[in-house]
Amino acid sequence: MSIECADPRFTALVSSDSAVERLWTGARWAEGPVYFGDSQMLLFSDIPNNRKLRWVPDGGGAGQVTEFTRQANFSNGHTRDHQGRLLACEHGTRRVVRFGRDGVSQVLATHWGVHRLNSPNDVVVARDGSIWFTDPTYGILSDVEGFKAEPEYGGAYVFRIDPRSGALQVIADDFVQPNGLAFSPDESRLYVADSGGSHLPQGPHHIRVFDLQADGTWRGGEVFAVVSPGVPDGMRVDTLGNLWTSAADGIHCYAPEGALLGKILVPEVVANLCFGGPEGRTLFITATTSLYRCEVLVGCAAG
Ligand code: MG
Repeated sequence: MSIECADPRFTALVSSDSAVERLWTGARWAEGPVYFGDSQMLLFSDIPNNRKLRWVPDGGGAGQVTEFTRQANFSNGHTRDHQGRLLACEHGTRRVVRFGRDGVSQVLATHWGVHRLNSPNDVVVARDGSIWFTDPTYGILSDVEGFKAEPEYGGAYVFRIDPRSGALQVIADDFVQPNGLAFSPDESRLYVADSGGSHLPQGPHHIRVFDLQADGTWRGGEVFAVVSPGVPDGMRVDTLGNLWTSAADGIHCYAPEGALLGKILVPEVVANLCFGGPEGRTLFITATTSLYRCEVLVGCAAG
């Protein structure tokens, strides 16, 4: 059984007999899934192999995975903006970039002040065009997921890129390792994972929530959910406001008030997920070496 129900509300989100299907394996660390509904394909990262992969369906089967980009600058998290453009967090270049539909890239963030970013990890775009991303040190800790280097600004921040000026703004400077992030459907909340426990035995393995005000300010940042086993990495929010996060044993789903609704158990440690498929109700799950799929009964709020 792949579905573990912790709250009766979960039965409206996932059928109890829904299966977790392995679509493909062969990555060293699969991450950064993003679905293109307009072309029915999924892009995801294989960070240590420095490539992006593309999955396409094949009419009911497991689909096919091919290399989309070699020399991917050790890309990690992806999203699409409201114009459908692809955004990527690159460990190798320590920057956030956006690709136009012509494939031409535009660099969005490289530095905080005079200092290089650590290794941008995951990114989301708000309706107003602002771009929010996390900057933990994972990509510079060793040569496995980028190039080993010293952190320059001495922290691991959550940043926002202003849609008009392009300037960076610090949203939070008190994370150990900020990681996945997601907005609530009305963008009144921002969830951010702290996966500091991945390298520190006593480090955080929780998700924090910020209240975003209409005037552009924010407050809060308290712990929303403690994720165990493992740490929360990538996550998505569905149209009902439930938060779906990665964990060591699969996907955990939390109600907007923070209650654990249930789990989708996956045989490998999960790094990230996204919604996709023809109806938007397929969960695509990047989990260590493999890509998995699980049909659910709800769609995603965004990217
Ligand atoms: Mg991540």
